[in-house]
Amino acid sequence: TMELLHHSEKLSAAGQLAAGIAHEIRNPLTAIRGFHQLMQTNGLKKEYFDIMAAEMDRIEMILTELLVLAKPQEVKIKQADIVSLLVQVTALLESQAIMTGCRLCIDSEQPSLFFRCDENQIKQVFINLIKNAIEAMPDGGDVTIRLKAEADKLIIRVSDEGQGIDEQLLRRVGQPFYTTKQDGTGLGLMITNKIIENHGGTMSIESAVGAGTTFTIVFPGRFQDDI
Ligand code: ADP
Ligand code: MG
Repeated sequence: TMELLHHSEKLSAAGQLAAGIAHEIRNPLTAIRGFHQLMQTNGLKKEYFDIMAAEMDRIEMILTELLVLAKPQEVKIKQADIVSLLVQVTALLESQAIMTGCRLCIDSEQPSLFFRCDENQIKQVFINLIKNAIEAMPDGGDVTIRLKAEADKLIIRVSDEGQGIDEQLLRRVGQPFYTTKQDGTGLGLMITNKIIENHGGTMSIESAVGAGTTFTIVFPGRFQDDI
């Protein structure tokens, strides 16, 4: 069994992901097949249609998120202002934030900060992180995005005042399909990580249960005297 454990540990990242995808898509597919069968014997029912539609939406959602990983050839690296990018992202998420009484704040020493990146992918990173932060605060609170340019790196922190993540669960966060949410996909942080990695950056998490969570992203490069 030690040998087996060893072997499964060595399953490639792609293998693990494929197994996860197969599992996550088979579940809603099984439900659709089941209700399809029920309709054949019991006749058409609105309830069945609704469940089938919801399950199909789930497959769609999983596939949409995964497509981000499947399109490396579409990466378009160019100089972009991360501050204005964050203003756009927070505007996009403002309505969701307001609904649960969350405030989104951007805190940057510089009015603009240029760095070379794929704008759409970096937007996706912050959509994922800010959404998670809002979802962690069902009773409201602040999401703060702090930017700091140092001589050789750009540091961006996304902090919330939400429920936090238990220390033991911290290692599972970011593993494909790990979610604690009713209709989460558990893909957001894995994709976020992948994008940051593709940009030569790193991401770390600090969290305290009941107090909040901070995601710290560091991108290497020269920023002080950039443009
Ligand atoms: P999803 O949001 O679909 O669940 P993610 O990959 O975005 O998938 O997040 C995985 C899990 O990590 C979440 O289900 C949640 O348990 C945890 N998590 C992520 N961000 C936060 C946060 N800001 N506060 C608390 N828990 C978080
Ligand atoms: Mg998420």
